[in-house]
Parts: sequence; structure tokens; C-alpha cells
Amino acid sequence: MKTLNDFNFENKKALIRVDFNVPLNDEFQVTDDTRIQAAKPTIIKVLEDGGSCVLMSHLGRPKGVEDKFSLGHIADKVSEVIGVQVKFVNDCIGESVAQVVESLQPGEILLLENLRFHGEEKAGDIAFAEKLSQWGDVYINDAFGTAHRAHASTAVIAQFFEGNKCFGSLLAKEIESIDKVLNDSEKPVTAILGGAKVSSKIGIVENIIEKVDHIIIGGGMTFTFVKALGGSIGNSLVEDDKMQLALDILKLAEEKNTKIHLPVDAVIADAFSNDANTQTVDTKEIPDGWMGLDVGPKTSENFAQVIAESKTILWNGPLGVFEMENFSKGTIELGNAIAEATANGAFSLVGGGDSVAAVKQFGFGEKVSYVSTGGGAMLESLEGKTLPGIEAILK
Ligand code: AMP
Repeated sequence: MKTLNDFNFENKKALIRVDFNVPLNDEFQVTDDTRIQAAKPTIIKVLEDGGSCVLMSHLGRPKGVEDKFSLGHIADKVSEVIGVQVKFVNDCIGESVAQVVESLQPGEILLLENLRFHGEEKAGDIAFAEKLSQWGDVYINDAFGTAHRAHASTAVIAQFFEGNKCFGSLLAKEIESIDKVLNDSEKPVTAILGGAKVSSKIGIVENIIEKVDHIIIGGGMTFTFVKALGGSIGNSLVEDDKMQLALDILKLAEEKNTKIHLPVDAVIADAFSNDANTQTVDTKEIPDGWMGLDVGPKTSENFAQVIAESKTILWNGPLGVFEMENFSKGTIELGNAIAEATANGAFSLVGGGDSVAAVKQFGFGEKVSYVSTGGGAMLESLEGKTLPGIEAILK
């Protein structure tokens, strides 16, 4: 696996695919610069070697050229985060770009306009990728968030950099973390799968069931399992067509000697609202008109015990409707348990969509070993899929 350390960028132009798909407010100000911060180590390495950087990214989902999706809005923020005044050019291919790239000096950074202003980017157009490839001597992919897409700048472009392509430090860290959990893990390994639906997590379960010792299930998908086992779940979220699948998972786990832990109690509510009436009951005995929106205290205790004994922990998905304060306790207690296990030497990886939001909201980011920057890319990695953006560098 080629990384930044295999290259000296002195007098070289590094063409870096970053993920600057950051949230903007109505005044086009960056409201969360995590993704820019995440790309910083790679950019700094190139500059410190005596090279220059050409940064390319997408922003949002523009239909053609739309000013509100211009990366020009974030150029000042990038300058501030990196500590170098960034140049910006209002296209990503063409003569105007060629001129600026030509005059780019060591120590300088150029940010290209939104790649998705050209439909060829998402189409994975090879001619477009070749045009982009002219802007660098070395291609670095540091955009984990789009590594599962076979787009021009994330995968197709790599073929024009035979021997001159590598992973940026962020992407390398993502790959190492996943590897540490799935392939090179210290046992016991525990995966916590929460979130809304069984259907969106089934690919992960199938891939990890033989690799982990414990699977903790929480969130909305709990109730498909409980109903399949004959429990009463009231009006809780359920996927009736996935009940057989839930039973199959339980059977497979038994065969593979993987322990599945289901919530034994639930905080239930008489409406999907923070102001609803609540009570805590056995997960199998939820009355009609009530729905389970969080795990109960006994469950939290059980889960904490499993986590305390784990040496490797993967967390994907909240245990309840954490966006509402009254149903956030289970997710917070789980985060505390993972933080404690991490402090005691376990490796913990948090990744995929809403668990990252929960970790940030409750301040666990610094207390776990690694928080992934990629939602879909993380899910696909955990499902055991090969990501086009990663494969293109390895080829
Ligand atoms: P996911 O994107 O699959 O990780 O799902 C995350 C979403 O699942 C969050 O928005 C949670 O509010 C939601 N969720 C968690 N637990 C429940 C539950 N018991 N009932 C309904 N939604 C839930």
C-alpha cells in the first residue's frame, strides 16, 4: 500500500482528491470544517517536502454550474485551516486552469472549482479524468467519503499515474482502522449495530458475523428481532419482511459461535416526540399504542459489561432516537462504556452515518480510537466490498 511517505514531493505538483463537501449556511460560510481539518496532514506533508498542491473536490449535488455549490465559497476557510493563502480558479479543466497550474510554485496551493459542475465527473468519464490528470505529477487520493464511487477524480484518474499514485494520510488511516477491526483484531471483538433498520445493516452483519465474538443490536432494528422471536412490540419500528432474516441471523450466529445481544428492556413512548409520555418495560412486552425509542437501564448495563471485556470495538448506529433528549440516554451510556474500554486499552472505531453525529454531539470524538469520515464508504467497507477509489490506487 503506497502512502505519502513513499514519496518526496520536492518540486512536484501533487494533485490531491480531497473531500471538501462541507456544510454551508445561508451566507455560504462553512459551519463544520472537520473535513478540511482532516485533509490538512496530507497537504502539509507535500508543502513541507517543497512541493505544491492542486486540490480537487466536489461540493453538494449541483445540476450543472450553480453558484451556491461553488468551492470558491470555502477558499478562505481552507486558507485559514491550512495556514497558507489558497489560490482558487473557477473551473477544474481548461486553459484558465492550465495557466495557473503552470505558474504554481513550491509551497503554494490551488483549489479547483467543483468537479461536479461537469457531468463527466460522476459518469467516470475517462477523457475528463485525463484532462484532470494533467494538473499533477503525483496523484493522491485522500477522500474516503467518496472512495466508494467510481467517479473520474476518485478512481478513473488513477490509471494516468502509474507508479505515481498513493493514499493520503486520512485515507490510509481509514483503511488501517477498518483492517484493525475486521482482519487484524485483538479479541474479543464486539460490533455494535444500531440505527433504524435491519435492511440497511444486513450486509454488515453477514460480513462480520464470523469475524467478531459479540454483536450488540440496538435502535429501531431491535424490534424486528423481538417480533420475530414472538414478542409484542406495540407500534415500534418494524420490518415485517425482514423477520425471517432476523431469525436466520440468530441461527447463523449460533453456528459460528458469535454471541448476539439484544436489548432486554426499552424506553417506550406513546408518540414519536420528545414530549410524549414514557415508561420503561421489558422489550418483549410493549403495549399497543406505544413504541420503543431507546434501550432501558438493564440493557445499558448488559451492553457495558460486554464492552468492558472487549479489546476491539466497532460502533455503527445509535441505540435510540438520540436526536431527542429523552431517548438519548442509551446511546450516551454506550458511548461512555466505549470511551472507558478505550481508556483501558481497547481499539474502538466509530463509523457510518448517524453514529458519527451522535459521537460528535455528545463529545466522544476524542475518547474513541478513530472516528471515520465516510458514511457510505464506511458501510461498504464493513460489508466487505472493495471500494473503487482504493482499488484504483492499489492497481
Ligand atoms: P441509521 O442511519 O440506520 O444509523 O439510523 C439512525 C437513525 O435511527 C437515527 O436518526 C435514530 O433516530 C433512528 N433510531 C434509532 N433508534 C430508533 C428507534 N427505536 N425507533 C425509531 N428510530 C430509531
